[in-house]
Amino acid sequence: TKPLLDVKDLKIHFPQRKGVIKKRTTYVKAVDGISFTLNEGETLGLVGESGCGKSTTGRGITRLVPVTDGEVRYEGTDIASLSKSELREHRKNMQMVFQDPYASLNPRLTVEDILAEPLKAHGVKGKAERRKQIEKMMDVVGLNRKFISRYAHEFSGGQRQRIGIARALILNPKLIIADEPVAALDVSIQAQILNLLKDLQEEFGLTYLFISHDLSVVRHLCNRVAVMYLGRMAEVGNTDKIFENPLHPYTQTLLSAIPVSNPRHEKERIILQGDVPSPVDPPKGCAFVGRCPKAHDRCHSDRPKLQKMGEDHYVACHLYD
Ligand code: SF4
Ligand code: MG
Repeated sequence: TKPLLDVKDLKIHFPQRKGVIKKRTTYVKAVDGISFTLNEGETLGLVGESGCGKSTTGRGITRLVPVTDGEVRYEGTDIASLSKSELREHRKNMQMVFQDPYASLNPRLTVEDILAEPLKAHGVKGKAERRKQIEKMMDVVGLNRKFISRYAHEFSGGQRQRIGIARALILNPKLIIADEPVAALDVSIQAQILNLLKDLQEEFGLTYLFISHDLSVVRHLCNRVAVMYLGRMAEVGNTDKIFENPLHPYTQTLLSAIPVSNPRHEKERIILQGDVPSPVDPPKGCAFVGRCPKAHDRCHSDRPKLQKMGEDHYVACHLYD
């Protein structure tokens, strides 16, 4: 397997406006030096609590937000260095599916309008040709063709997410970044959309970066997992390895909160003390130091690096130095 996406030391810092009295600009270090690879055809789950930088990472990879530092290589090309016109062309390769189909689709546009937009932007001329492609895509995502002239607001949440997925797929991308694609949907609809994503992956050989806070879904859907905490990577690797043998104390905490079906494997739920620190002024050493039950001296001063613990299993924690 070769990496489709190779992210190295990615940083995304946002300037934060303080009062007029304070002239110095401070930065929100939303993503603060993360690295991971995504192999062709696989699904990598990007997990962590809200505010840990998962969504920002997805938006940085697609350059919806500017990258401060580091590399995002797609098939070897560094996306962070592309010019505007190169980027436009490149956008065909990677598309996003957003959490909230209510917010990400303009309710005053019809399905045809919504799906025609990317086609027009990428030079598919002629209404008839566009219509043909749109109808085909509606079949693919399970939307009845006769709804082509309906407005987005006339659809249910699940159907809207199907429109969102159709919009992402219509230019034949290889990589889909799905940011909590089912979190806003009724539980009864979630499985349908997840199954659709799985089927589409098989049909089109798609690669997914699947951003989620739902670890049960991630375990079910993802070959590999990347755990983020406060803009940094805590642990990355094969899903089964991480779920069976989490090494990072933060991963152990997250996993202890999932209900297990077999009570013999019931682990005690680890409750964290304190709050997630501010990404404006993160700890100097390990990001998790203030809440970690296993913190020791070094953790306060040295930032742990991601180190290899086994075949496709990496952790950033001084316990394993
Ligand atoms: Fe805990 Fe130290 Fe490991 Fe950070 S480096 S997770 S504080 S033990
Ligand atoms: Mg988010």
